[in-house]
Amino acid sequence: MPIYEYRCNQCLKKFDQLILNPKENPQVICRKCGGKNLTRLLSSFAYHRSEEDRMAEFDTSKPAGDEFYKDSRNIGLHAKKRAKELGIDLGSQFDETVEKARSVSNLDDIKKISEV
Ligand SMILES: [Zn+2]
Repeated sequence: MPIYEYRCNQCLKKFDQLILNPKENPQVICRKCGGKNLTRLLSSFAYHRSEEDRMAEFDTSKPAGDEFYKDSRNIGLHAKKRAKELGIDLGSQFDETVEKARSVSNLDDIKKISEV
């Protein structure tokens, strides 16, 4: 039962959808606006898995060095993992902040955002 990520072409909302039987070409509708004009985002599934893997390996009790933050995919990982350990739901707004941080090129800015 794969989980696919879709983007609504109408309102641009992104959401995950569990597909019970992909062969049946299920009709997926946008959760926000009900639109049926959706684009399936192919890379997302692998991306989510690898982030989970990195989070599992990541030890928040040790300070992360500059090398760690050179991989932009690690940005936000510290905060996410700490939140998970503490049982805090950071919500989708945090993901947006992380996405923004990942597009920032200045390492000091990245550290500031990711160690909040
Ligand atoms: Zn929509």
